[in-house]
Amino acid sequence: MLLPREEATAILSPMKVPLLDLAAQYHEVETEVRAAIDRVLDTRHYVLGPEVVALEQEVAAVCGARHGIGVSSGTDAILAALMALGIGPGDEVIVPTFTFFATAGCVARVGATPVFVDVLPDTFNIDPAAIARAITERTKAIIPVHLYGQCADMKRIMALAVRHGLAVIEDAAQSIGASYEGRPAGSFGVAAALSFYPTKNLSAMGDAGMVVTNDDALAEKLRFMRDHGQNPRYYYHFIGGNFRLDGIQGAVLRVKLKRLAGWTAARQRHAARYDRELADASVVLPVTLAECGHVYHQYTIRSRRRDALQSFLAGAGVGSGVYYPLPLHLQPCFEYLGYAKGACPVAEQAAGEVLSLPIYSEMSDEQQGHVIESIRVFERSGSGVAARGESGR
Ligand SMILES: *Cc1c(COP(=O)(O)O)cnc(C)c1O
Repeated sequence: MLLPREEATAILSPMKVPLLDLAAQYHEVETEVRAAIDRVLDTRHYVLGPEVVALEQEVAAVCGARHGIGVSSGTDAILAALMALGIGPGDEVIVPTFTFFATAGCVARVGATPVFVDVLPDTFNIDPAAIARAITERTKAIIPVHLYGQCADMKRIMALAVRHGLAVIEDAAQSIGASYEGRPAGSFGVAAALSFYPTKNLSAMGDAGMVVTNDDALAEKLRFMRDHGQNPRYYYHFIGGNFRLDGIQGAVLRVKLKRLAGWTAARQRHAARYDRELADASVVLPVTLAECGHVYHQYTIRSRRRDALQSFLAGAGVGSGVYYPLPLHLQPCFEYLGYAKGACPVAEQAAGEVLSLPIYSEMSDEQQGHVIESIRVFERSGSGVAARGESGR
């Protein structure tokens, strides 16, 4: 039997550990961010402008790309990339089913067909063997997602893409600064999409995103694409949209980008401590592959008693998140594609078991200790049979 919530709260200290604490980060950068915003207000470069241009170069460098094109969100980065590649009706784009909605939503929005494939049970990233099985003569692109901050198997994915002449758009929304075999996330595909949504590792104070690419012609097309496709002004060669990035967000992001490496190192230290101190717990810990530099956007464990664990943690003042509770191939909006339950069994099982723990950079040692202790109390209080059964998989 589980302890009643009141009892758990009495045993554990009343400390609160949110899943993410944006206030803590803000305190660190407040003075500099306000000065940066003032610079934009003084010069009135509200949309695009010099701060955005500088940010584009700085972010592209982090991603091992020649070009960065600042856009209005990570979603619009994926959308603009698909549009610039000319993907549309009749085309198929292979995406993992276990990801944030935008990865596949954008494919459908350009009129193409998302083809959902399963993920790997250890990393939750797209399964290259499943990609190979899903390729048809209509396949135009693959969008691997570097989920939770760890790169997908880019060696095998790029080999498939080259063999079949497919474009690869990396969804790097959760993985700025990550690496695979020493190369940065964002440097593998023809383009990569980044998100600077406030919960991401590098976060704006509003919506923001970027496409990075090493393809000069694609970069030029993307610059027009984010501005309705116009060049010069009021002459439209193709149909784009308003995907422009605000100057204020560009200025804010530049202040934060200078600190990203330190923040990432803190996330990695927290992950190492969870790895160490939960090694003998019955929950399944995340797998970090040797070839991957993981930036721990999330630290995601698995438990067959996930929902009970999550509510127990909530009672102990510990925030946690489920990314994602329903795989995309089973979402009502994609019913028209005809996927049945069981089509992607690994993702379906993961959706019922994953739980992301607090891992934000500013979390104190004491707070993390409280998260770890809370999980231990939960395990001691749970039915021993169910608890012991978990780690053996
Ligand atoms: C956040 C996210 C996006 C979308 O980014 P927004 O900036 O929120 O539009 C796309 N893909 C993944 C995997 C994400 O995590």
